[in-house]
Amino acid sequence: MKSAKKNKITLEQWAKEHGYSETLASQEVATGALDLKLSKDKDNIVWVETNKLSLRTWAVENSFPYESVLLWHQNGILPVKTTTDKQGKIWVKAEEILRAIPLTLQYATVSKKAKNTTLLEACRAGVNFFIKSLWNQKGKLDANTLARLQKTRLTERYKSQALKQALQIVVDTKKSAKALGVPASCPHFQGGARLDKKFIKIELSQHLKDFDWCLTLSTLRKRHPIVLPLKGTEVLRKWLAKDGAELIQGCELNEDSVILFVKLPTLPYKNQGITSALDQGKKKLAVDALGNQYGKISKEEKAAGEEGWNEILNKINRRKKGSQGRKEAYAQRENYLNKTLNLMPWADWRFLGGEELKGIKNGKETTTKQQRKILASWCQRRVRDRISHKAQENRVFQVAYDPRNTSRECPTLKGGCGKVSKANRQGETFECVSCGYKDDADNVGAFNGFIRTCGLLGSLESPKNKGIKESRDENPENLGVPGQSDI
Ligand SMILES: [Zn+2]
Repeated sequence: MKSAKKNKITLEQWAKEHGYSETLASQEVATGALDLKLSKDKDNIVWVETNKLSLRTWAVENSFPYESVLLWHQNGILPVKTTTDKQGKIWVKAEEILRAIPLTLQYATVSKKAKNTTLLEACRAGVNFFIKSLWNQKGKLDANTLARLQKTRLTERYKSQALKQALQIVVDTKKSAKALGVPASCPHFQGGARLDKKFIKIELSQHLKDFDWCLTLSTLRKRHPIVLPLKGTEVLRKWLAKDGAELIQGCELNEDSVILFVKLPTLPYKNQGITSALDQGKKKLAVDALGNQYGKISKEEKAAGEEGWNEILNKINRRKKGSQGRKEAYAQRENYLNKTLNLMPWADWRFLGGEELKGIKNGKETTTKQQRKILASWCQRRVRDRISHKAQENRVFQVAYDPRNTSRECPTLKGGCGKVSKANRQGETFECVSCGYKDDADNVGAFNGFIRTCGLLGSLESPKNKGIKESRDENPENLGVPGQSDI
């Protein structure tokens, strides 16, 4: 779905677009007045990489002082990816906002559905073959690795697509097992097929009166594509209506649904607003620095049959794995999550701290069993990812702080004594064993998270930012990955 070439224009074009003559642009680059990522091809044509900005240019565009941005970079708290070239110059990779929108395939005929199912079965078999093969023996997207799969109904193009997807799954599985500190086991793939514009074409429907879109899909028979009718949803219309929104020619195909992707242009970060932090609470979805609790319901509401975050999570645990009831509870959790996130004061925030989730392993969840840990951790990651999406959409700058001991430290700035003790926290209550300071434990956690966020943004003399440095590679990636049920 990504094309590297699309991110390059000639210096001549670039100069034209930015009101320079080509000579002037070259001179400015030579004197260092313009920071552009340039490359020369064999015909001596100079190209500008438009998806990369120098850190200095990035700072200017986002109204941040360059010195701060440099410090943030050194401490690994920029919410964007950076690379350093041989000359030591730092480049910022342009952010990409991608959102995933599922649409139903229920309007397709039985025969088309059958063809789609056949295709998916062959794709999954291909992906699973390559996963197994790659698990035991390294490979890459080349003819040698492709040749490992001999017996298949897949066309050459679909075969290389299956290998591509398998490579990604193997890398992701090993990475996430490492992050969770558990041994990696060879996964079995049951998901949808990721297809790009080589396999599909999505167009506004011209002839099909009752449908908004049609998706033309290459099948296992060459030159015999099928056309699947699609009805747009509220969510799709919402995203497409945004300025500069672009429907990606690519999808994730399943039996009953297809996930489309909308790309949005990124705007500079906000230059006004307050700093806050969100701590993922014990029995609530999150708490912010001011002590606003999200996803918690009162006793009266509970008595009236309402459900909050904790009630929904408990409901999921009570219901049998794989049951319809559990599925419904998952959907309820997702809806509740989105509804609650929408209630947060995104317009007020400029900087937002959040827990660096790697800390969980050595921190909050030590006593739970491994299986539960993975599940809880998945859910926490989901919440964190959705918070990241919202922050990204609202151009709120995110900071990941080390969550260790945030809810065990007596907050001095709120009149406490600074004592750190496990005994300070008893379930949902914080009561300092040394000075008796008392508050909701999650409020204390969020407030301490806020202090650490301020420390990272300002003096950088936060007590522990070691853990944040380590996670630099993993963290920014989560910011742009589209969630599957991103409603
Ligand atoms: Zn105290």
